Amino acid sequence: QGAISFKDVHFAYDPARPILKGISFEVPAGKTVAVVGPSGAGKSTLSRLLYRFYDIQSGTITVDGQDIRTVTQKSLRSVIGMVPQDTVLFNDTVAYNIRYGRTSASDGEVFAAAEVAQIAHFIETLPEGFETKVGERGLKLSGGEKQRVAIARTILKAPPILILDEATSALDTTTEREIQTALDVVSKNRTTLVIAHRLSTVIGADEIIVLKSGEIAERGTHAALLERN
Ligand code: ADP
Ligand code: ADP
Repeated sequence: QGAISFKDVHFAYDPARPILKGISFEVPAGKTVAVVGPSGAGKSTLSRLLYRFYDIQSGTITVDGQDIRTVTQKSLRSVIGMVPQDTVLFNDTVAYNIRYGRTSASDGEVFAAAEVAQIAHFIETLPEGFETKVGERGLKLSGGEKQRVAIARTILKAPPILILDEATSALDTTTEREIQTALDVVSKNRTTLVIAHRLSTVIGADEIIVLKSGEIAERGTHAALLERN
């Protein structure tokens, strides 16, 4: 479930300056495709189009064969978990922020035991004050802690599709490694689009797409790309 297809996708914020110039690729259900490339290449724009922050101007993006423009933003986003570079949290408790986005409203605030076990790893590493408000006078979370909250939220939401948009790039090396390990667990068996700035962080991807100036410059497995360069 969750196969993604980009077909000849074009996009420009300013009509005089095309950002994506005919992008086509697929993420088969359950697989991981990484998009790497220099800053400004259009990587984040790609992920934002899939999440429908913006609509494409020509071409098609489909999820499970369905054009994403024909489904509501809400139903599209219910199948996609997005872990951005800098997670912005609601001015509420960590618990609230983790629960936010749960699709089954009937479960309310009650966590199933299995879910608690799944997210315990992240919560353990959060500071005291799980029920204290995150905010100016409340809890101060580091970048790594915020990313753990975003990942825990994504685990609870359990979406078939994941977008990881430079999810670890704002973190120090040690935290990056910890968060990466967590993300590897979450993305296993989910359709995953990873946006990364370095090839070395996406070694395990099923396919890597190198984006340059809004065009696909190269594509292949990590090993194949290394061999060619
Ligand atoms: P990358 O993720 O590869 O660094 P982006 O997709 O963020 O690239 O940006 C591609 C280009 O689009 C850049 O030149 C950037 O300045 C421009 N851009 C990004 N977001 C906007 C926006 N909201 N409005 C106008 N231009 C933007
Ligand atoms: P939806 O609730 O329909 O999925 P939203 O645009 O409200 O769409 O939110 C998309 C995702 O972005 C949410 O799942 C959440 O992770 C995050 N998000 C949005 N707004 C905020 C916010 N103000 N604070 C924290 N996270 C937010």
